[in-house]
Amino acid sequence: MNTIDLRSDTVSWPTPAMREAMANAEVGDDVWGDDPTVNRLEEMAAAMVGKEAAVFVPSGTMANLAAAMAHCGRGDELILGNQAHSFRYEAGGVAVLGGIHPHVLPNRPDGTLALDEIEAAVRPDNDHFPRSRAILLENTHNICGGKAIPTSYMAAVRQLADRHGLVVHLDGARVFNAAVALNCPVTEITRHVDSVSFCLSKGLCAPVGSLLCGPAGFIRRARRARKVLGGGMRQAGILAAAGIVALEQMIDRLAEDHANARKLARGLADTTGVDLDPAAVETNMVYFELNESVPLEPATLIERLDREHNVKIGGRGGRLFRAVTHYWITPGAVDTALQGIQAILEEAGS
Ligand SMILES: *Cc1c(COP(=O)(O)O)cnc(C)c1O
Repeated sequence: MNTIDLRSDTVSWPTPAMREAMANAEVGDDVWGDDPTVNRLEEMAAAMVGKEAAVFVPSGTMANLAAAMAHCGRGDELILGNQAHSFRYEAGGVAVLGGIHPHVLPNRPDGTLALDEIEAAVRPDNDHFPRSRAILLENTHNICGGKAIPTSYMAAVRQLADRHGLVVHLDGARVFNAAVALNCPVTEITRHVDSVSFCLSKGLCAPVGSLLCGPAGFIRRARRARKVLGGGMRQAGILAAAGIVALEQMIDRLAEDHANARKLARGLADTTGVDLDPAAVETNMVYFELNESVPLEPATLIERLDREHNVKIGGRGGRLFRAVTHYWITPGAVDTALQGIQAILEEAGS
């Protein structure tokens, strides 16, 4: 990658080991359950997060939607945060396709929902109300800065859910980043939820795919949801082969991405005209703001960084930006990105 692409970890390319595994993958028709490589990936994934079963799906969006559809029926209610990826960036799928009513609560800056607000959101049994059925958490929390949410919070939500007979789904698109940041086995996070989805195609570098994991009966229903959503793939072992490499080789090294994100955050914090709190950077995401005093349009910073320095960052509305580290971002690339930002800001006269 000559371009230093910090827009997301989704842009990460598959590794050479993945391409080789893909070329040599044993395959079958996965809709019939015949693909040995998909089957192996699903078994590995379920075991890693401590669940009975797993299903391989094309995207994190489908994993979350299939989970919601497998947990909830029409007219059931799903409690989730207003900054949840599932609420913000998944095209309203739970309502559009699932007939599920989203009950939205404000996310706090650390990515959690206030326990008393969850408690108050649970509906009494009454014909006027949707039926409260599930709670969705997100860990790491993307929009809240890539925060790793502590296991003690996960445990508290579990207890609350049990008191009210609710199920808990974790959008764990980056749950391995959370485990690495919290320095705990991923099962310390996932044991508190009924189901968890995670992405292979972000920091883990696989080209395509997510896993949804949970109890066997739930996964059977999720397979039906996957089919109705058009996610039943055939010789998907080609993709699953890369996923197996991702799970075997790419998890422990996420610590490097976190170190690079901290390096970037420290450099940005020292840059005149940039506002951010480096202590808020817990995983691979660096959100930062261009100070009002800098006479530069946010779009101009993005455009000039790209054109003059070959560095891509994401605009997040207003003067907010996001830079995400991943396997293809080296410490040297972080230096180049910092120098580019500093050069443009100095020229702008900040
Ligand atoms: C990326 C992401 C998803 C969805 O993944 P896609 O594969 O892009 O559909 C879900 N949740 C979170 C928190 C994400 O960051």
